[in-house]
Amino acid sequence: MSAREKASGFAVEAKDLIKEYDDLIAVNRVSFTVRYGEAFGMLGPNGAGKSTIMRMIICRSPLTGGALDVVGLDVTSHPREIKESVGVVPQENNLDPDLTVRDNLLVYSRYFRIPRSVAEERADELIEFVDLGDKRDSRIETLSGGMKRRLMIARALINNPMILILDEPTTGLDPHVRLAIWDKLRQLRDQGLTILLSTHYMDEAEKLCDRLVIIDKGKILVSGTPRELIERYAMHFALEARGCNGSPLKSTLPQIIAERRGSTHFYFAPTAELLAPLMSEYEDYETYLRPSNLEDVFLRLTDQEGLA
Ligand code: ADP
Repeated sequence: MSAREKASGFAVEAKDLIKEYDDLIAVNRVSFTVRYGEAFGMLGPNGAGKSTIMRMIICRSPLTGGALDVVGLDVTSHPREIKESVGVVPQENNLDPDLTVRDNLLVYSRYFRIPRSVAEERADELIEFVDLGDKRDSRIETLSGGMKRRLMIARALINNPMILILDEPTTGLDPHVRLAIWDKLRQLRDQGLTILLSTHYMDEAEKLCDRLVIIDKGKILVSGTPRELIERYAMHFALEARGCNGSPLKSTLPQIIAERRGSTHFYFAPTAELLAPLMSEYEDYETYLRPSNLEDVFLRLTDQEGLA
């Protein structure tokens, strides 16, 4: 049975996944599922284990333990079928500098034995999709960083994959380029493509992902939709008071969480009104009242100082 016929169940299913390098446990009993048609994020700091999990998903790194199915197939026994069913955008540019934009796509299509006429039609569609129509016959060295990244997304789509896998898709790119890439990824998700991405940018995960896991030191800390995680761990609103000494105020309402990170005091509450009275306590400090975000969630879960 081919991968495409088996497209029921989960796009990715990891159970107690383990990866060890010598004496380092890079991925430590990680379990998660990615549903078809969703944008799923793996969020975590550098060294958390995100790339290692991705390399196991795309069958480039053997598992040390656990089980991993991609498009319903076991990575250990079906690497060839899985590689044909996924599109991969690596973190580093690995386009062929000696070829044009279009030829980079056509040469790549040969790995999948796509007939030339089909590949040409698909390459031209994809070049338009990533807004590189006027660069079609240009060499790679004439492209900006953002153009190269868009071309790598186009290249990953040449085999019409069931899952698009991106390792830190906007790392090192400027804010305008990041927005353009997010826009393309949203369009692909809206067309029904399953997207799996790793990122250490909290805002990227919050804006792009339907669901995500937060990973640190090889373990999943939490999983859920960005909204669920924010509501569960950082409520709705945050008040920051900067440049403070000592601990935050103790005599706050029970609905309010108070924490310290460095010289900043943080208060989280379900409504902004609950936080407003606290601002008068910090008249001599710089204060900032804002909606809570995923960065708050991540710092609350990992910052031992704040939880002390
Ligand atoms: P992330 O993608 O979240 O930044 P990685 O998966 O690249 O994290 O790395 C997780 C851990 O595994 C890190 O401590 C890293 O140094 C280590 N690591 C990654 N690849 C290798 C390797 N090929 N050999 C040894 N250690 C590795």
